[in-house]
Amino acid sequence: MTAASGETPGTIDSPKGTLAASPAQIVEEFLGPVYGGRGDSQTGIDGGKLDLEWLEATYKEFHREPELSTAEEKTAARIARELEYFDNWEITTNIGGYGITAVLENGEGPTVLMRADFDGLPVAENTGVDYASKHSQLDAHGQRVPTMHACGHDHHTTSLLGAMRVLDGTRDKWSGTVVALFQPAEEASIGANGMVADGLGSIIPRPDVCLAQHVIAGPAGRVFTASGPVMTSSTTIEITLYGRGAHASMPHRSVDPVVLAASTVMKLQTVVSREVPPNQFAVITVASVEAGKANNVIPDSAKISLSCRFYDEALRKKCVDAIKRVVRAEAQSMGADRAPSFKFVGMLGATNNSEKVFSTVRAGFDEAFGTSESVDMEPWTASEDFPVIPKAFGVPYMLWTVGITPRWLWERAEKAGRLDIDIPTNHNPGFLPDLKTLPVGVRAAAVAVLSCLQQTWQRPADEGDDQTYRPTIPTDADIDAVAVETARAD
Ligand SMILES: [Zn+2]
Ligand SMILES: [Zn+2]
Repeated sequence: MTAASGETPGTIDSPKGTLAASPAQIVEEFLGPVYGGRGDSQTGIDGGKLDLEWLEATYKEFHREPELSTAEEKTAARIARELEYFDNWEITTNIGGYGITAVLENGEGPTVLMRADFDGLPVAENTGVDYASKHSQLDAHGQRVPTMHACGHDHHTTSLLGAMRVLDGTRDKWSGTVVALFQPAEEASIGANGMVADGLGSIIPRPDVCLAQHVIAGPAGRVFTASGPVMTSSTTIEITLYGRGAHASMPHRSVDPVVLAASTVMKLQTVVSREVPPNQFAVITVASVEAGKANNVIPDSAKISLSCRFYDEALRKKCVDAIKRVVRAEAQSMGADRAPSFKFVGMLGATNNSEKVFSTVRAGFDEAFGTSESVDMEPWTASEDFPVIPKAFGVPYMLWTVGITPRWLWERAEKAGRLDIDIPTNHNPGFLPDLKTLPVGVRAAAVAVLSCLQQTWQRPADEGDDQTYRPTIPTDADIDAVAVETARAD
């Protein structure tokens, strides 16, 4: 309303929630002192009032049966079943596919949203544990593929369910509103957008601040936070290279797209190495090459898919322009009649943590985990669609990470200088969170939510506490002006 009339909307402060003790103390009283994650000695493992057997069993159940993005039917049903545990949370299912929200209104205070994603990946798990996935599913091309929780989204979901139990069980010690949001289709970069587009703004109260956590390869139980850009923007480009098909014995009658694809892939390696300043970050990976079906046919086209990552928008534009130039010139050099075509899919902006959310949550983590385990986060080259949610509501946010690699494994690899070789990263078939990090994820989530509840946050002055906020749906133009512009070019 305000925007339409051209006024600059004023802001007011949200009410502050009242906490009976510090966030770390409230959580510790429920969950017991910090345990697990630090070292491998299992001394004093006990979840206090949180049933650790339930926590582990729930995680293993998610882990055994991962489902691909947009096909998370059973996972969503399982989450919904877990939510039956709660009496006073308002639950909504099937938002933008299989998205779920649970809202607990608990007196005066800000509204804090915590998000967990729950999709798996088409990866064949080789961790060898007895709860490893043996599951498979039809992918978007109708092919049966093995599925694995290779990014730890099962960990995120279990942690949020655990944090809900902590928050629910300590509700007489804090006030405010908590929104737990379970998001599908993160790996396809469309889940957050899908929930926003499906009316998330009219389903939940407008959050004042949004939170998310992600597990990573790192010392088990260590919690990493930072303000500013912590994850990259992502630009995915599908390029079709057109040639001329012919009999495999008559290459002179063809424009061979297999050779064209090969030379293009190699030439693209020069964009980052020769055109990006050495002190700036850019990744251009050709992640798939497809051409030909028979051993005696030169095909008439080839497809390559690029995954590109940047922290800086101007550099992204420069590199996208360079990619177009290289791809077109290679095709021309081989005499292709038809120019290559570019399709931009899965655009994401960078994850840029708010300074205020960072300092608020970091203080809570420092108290809960100690300053040797609550440490600075290095920017991570992966990308996330989580910021789509806070951006839709125009509110600050933070994503933090939790290390999940068993300490003995991490320390051994570090000593041998083999961290890059010996430690499976996210999306690797051997990626396996140490089970002792489950309660760390629970503690971090609960402490972060409580920390944000005891702050005031700015909200638009024209909105009452109970007024529904309807966010504008982010368009391609919002998410990536470069992509829209590039897609239109030529
Ligand atoms: Zn992932
Ligand atoms: Zn992930």
